[in-house]
Amino acid sequence: MQTITTKTLRQSRGIERLVTGIATSDGAGVKLTRVLTGKLQRRLDPYLMLDAFGSDDPDDYIAGFPDHPHRGFETITYMLSGRMRHRDSAGHEGLLQNGGVQWMTAGRGVIHSEIPEQEDGVMEGFQLWLNLPSQRKMIEPWYRDIPSTDIPEYTTDAGVTVRVIAGESNGVSGAVNREHTEPLYLDIHMPAGTEFATAIPATHNAFIYVYRGVVEVNGSAVAVQRMGILENRADADGVTLSASQDTRLILVAGKPLNEEIVQYGPFVMNTQEQIHDAIDDFRNGRLA
Ligand code: FE
Repeated sequence: MQTITTKTLRQSRGIERLVTGIATSDGAGVKLTRVLTGKLQRRLDPYLMLDAFGSDDPDDYIAGFPDHPHRGFETITYMLSGRMRHRDSAGHEGLLQNGGVQWMTAGRGVIHSEIPEQEDGVMEGFQLWLNLPSQRKMIEPWYRDIPSTDIPEYTTDAGVTVRVIAGESNGVSGAVNREHTEPLYLDIHMPAGTEFATAIPATHNAFIYVYRGVVEVNGSAVAVQRMGILENRADADGVTLSASQDTRLILVAGKPLNEEIVQYGPFVMNTQEQIHDAIDDFRNGRLA
């Protein structure tokens, strides 16, 4: 792991608003917290959804997500703890576990299942949905399992550890890079009494979600299990975080697509007609 001296920012973004997730269930009855809901899709374009899951009660996760379709976007599953088996109609199969990421580009369509491969213990992580630009919504599906050891990491002089899942932070390039949406996805571990700064292009929408401890941004506290939407301001070149206790959070940013978003469950397209086509293709076995 590399040690990095982080650059000081000219101006940090602040917190525009705090969001508390909504407890819900999905799949065959998996309990989760929907943090980024449909109402925030415009504000946090190109991101469509963020679910946080975390439980040591198998009843909350054991049923998993049996066969279901997706079209028109990418799903990024980050497993902090636990094991999940993935299978899809394109013939891909993989085991997602402890610190690993599964990045799936649904494109024109996949049908897949995500089933826990554990009967007890903790399952904790996130699923993030990233939109595809209109001209790429119908591309061939793609997917990659990224084991924890393949996720680039660095430590700052202050002792903050950063896992770079996507994009670039303090000169370290992440496991995945994407044009069009330019996603930045960091998992940041801050010991008590540390500060951390990373650049974010002023054009990007960005948010943080705290899953341990509490973080301060420009004097505003973001508590555990809260999302903080970072303000967009032309004079800000990134964000500076400080933690007075041991804190862990994800930071997510991306370049907005500024296109129409029409969602029907697992299909996210630009027009109602494209949604009808997706449903029709799914019903007639043409989606996968
Ligand atoms: Fe899925």
